[in-house]
Amino acid sequence: MQIQLLINGQVVAGQGPALPVFNPSTGEAIVSIPEAEPAQVLAAVAAADAAFPAWAALPPRERSTRLLAIADAIERNGAELARLESLNCGKPYHAMLNDEIPAVVDCFRFFAGAARCLNGSSAGEYIPGFTSMIRRDPIGVVASIAPWNYPLQMAAWKLAPALAAGNTVIIKPSEVTPLTTLALVPILAECLPAGVVNVVHGRGAEVGAPLVSHPKVRMVSLTGSIPTGKRLVESAAQTLKRTHMELGGKAPVIVLDDANLAEVVDGIRAFGFYNAGQDCTAACRIYAQKGIYDKLVADLGSAIGSLKMGLQDDPSTELGPLIYAAHRDRVVGFVDRAREQKHIEIVTGGAKGEGPGYFYQPTLVAGALQTDEIVQKEVFGPVVSVTAIDDLDQGIAFANDSEYGLASSVWTQDVGKAMSAAAVLQYGCTWINTHFMITNEMPHGGLKQSGYGKDMSMYALEEYTCARHVMVKW
Ligand code: NAD
Repeated sequence: MQIQLLINGQVVAGQGPALPVFNPSTGEAIVSIPEAEPAQVLAAVAAADAAFPAWAALPPRERSTRLLAIADAIERNGAELARLESLNCGKPYHAMLNDEIPAVVDCFRFFAGAARCLNGSSAGEYIPGFTSMIRRDPIGVVASIAPWNYPLQMAAWKLAPALAAGNTVIIKPSEVTPLTTLALVPILAECLPAGVVNVVHGRGAEVGAPLVSHPKVRMVSLTGSIPTGKRLVESAAQTLKRTHMELGGKAPVIVLDDANLAEVVDGIRAFGFYNAGQDCTAACRIYAQKGIYDKLVADLGSAIGSLKMGLQDDPSTELGPLIYAAHRDRVVGFVDRAREQKHIEIVTGGAKGEGPGYFYQPTLVAGALQTDEIVQKEVFGPVVSVTAIDDLDQGIAFANDSEYGLASSVWTQDVGKAMSAAAVLQYGCTWINTHFMITNEMPHGGLKQSGYGKDMSMYALEEYTCARHVMVKW
C-alpha cells in the first residue's frame, strides 16, 4: 500500500505522528500513516511555488497531454483504486469501480480538452488608439482540501481544473480517507514535473491550516462542512486569498400530485441512499403534495426497506456503513430526536445496523414539519424525510427556506410547472424528474451557505484562472 507523500517530485514518508486509517465496515484499522510535519508542509508550498512559472508557461497542449496520461494511468489502475477506496470508505466495490472510477477518468480527460479551449471576449479598441485584450492566466499555488465522502472524485475535481489552467497544487485529502489520493502519488510523480502537484497527508488543524495561512498559497479550494468553510475563509482573509468553497447540502425534492410515482420512488431509493446518503446532493428532503403524499410514503417505505446494506465486496450490497462511529452517533441523534416528536412516524429503519461496523439502517421519516431539525439540518446519512405540501408554491417556499443551496429537484409531468420552479429555486442545480445526475461538462456548486465556486465544466476552469486586461497603445 502506498502511504508516502509527494513533495517536490520526491516520494517521502510523513515525519509527523502516525494516524490510523480505518475500515468502517469492521471498525478495524487498515494502516497507520504518518502525517506531514510542519517543515514538510512548508517544503510542499515552496516546491509548488518554484514549479509554478514553468508549468504555467507550458503550452496548453503539453499540460493537456499530461492530464491525459494521468487519466490513462487511473483507468489502468482502476480496479486497485476502487478496492482501496471501498476498503477505506465502506462503499460497495462494484459501485466504486463502475460509477466513480469512470467519472474520475473522464474528469481528467474533460479538463485535458478544456485546457486547450479557454475563451473570452474579443480584443478591440474600446478607447480609440488602444487595443485591449483579455488574458486568462493561472492564479499560482492552490491548496486543495478534500472531504472523506468521495476522496478520489474530489481529488480529480480539484486537481484536473487547477492543473489544466496552469496552477500548481498542494492537495490534502481528508485524514480519514487518504488511501486513494496517496495511491495517486506514483502516477502524479511519473506524469508531472517535480513540484507541480504535492500530496500531503494529515489533520485539518495541523496540516490544512498552515496551507491556508501560507502567504505563497494564492487560492484555497475546500470541499467540506460549513463550519470548516467559515474557518478557512476567515484565515484566508488574512492574506486575501481566493477561496473556492463547496460545502454542505440538504437537497429538497418537490413531488407534485401528477408526478410519476414509480419513478419518484425509484429515484429517491437510488439518489437518497447512494454512498449511504453521505452526499451533499442526496435526495433527502421530500416535499410531497397532499394528493400523492400517502401513496408516496407507503411505496417509499417498502422501497427503502428493501435496500440491501452490507459489506464492500458483496455484489448485492447497495449501501455500506457510515464513515466513523462519531458520525453514526450523529445520525442516530438526528433520528432519535425526530422520533420524539408526536407528528413524526419512522416508516422504516431508524436503528443501527448489526455487526462491528458503523452501519445505520436506511430510514424514512414521515410527517416531518418544515421547522423540524430533521428537515432543516444536513444529516449526511441514509435518512430521508417527507413533508406534506399544499401546492407547488408552498413546495418552493419550503425548499428555499433553508441555509443550504446546493441541489434540488422537481417531479411533475407538467413541464411549465417544472420550469417555473427551476426559475426560482435558490440552488446551484435543479433537476426535473431526476436527481443526482452530474456530468463533467456541467457545473456543480452552491448558493447560500452551501458555498460558492464551481467544480467540473468550463466554469471550474475559469475559477482557477484570473481574467487580465492587456492594453496596447498604437
Ligand atoms: P470537514 O469540513 O470536516 O473536512 C473537510 C476537509 O477540511 C478535511 O480534509 C479536513 O482535514 C480539512 N480541515 C478541517 N479543519 C481544517 C482547518 N482548520 N484548516 C484546514 N483544513 C481543515 O468535512 P468532512 O466531514 O470531511 O466532509 C463532509 C462535509 O463535506 C459535508 O458537510 C458535505 O456536505 C460536504 N461536501 C460538500 C460537497 C460539495 O460539493 N458541496 C461535496 C462533498 C462533501
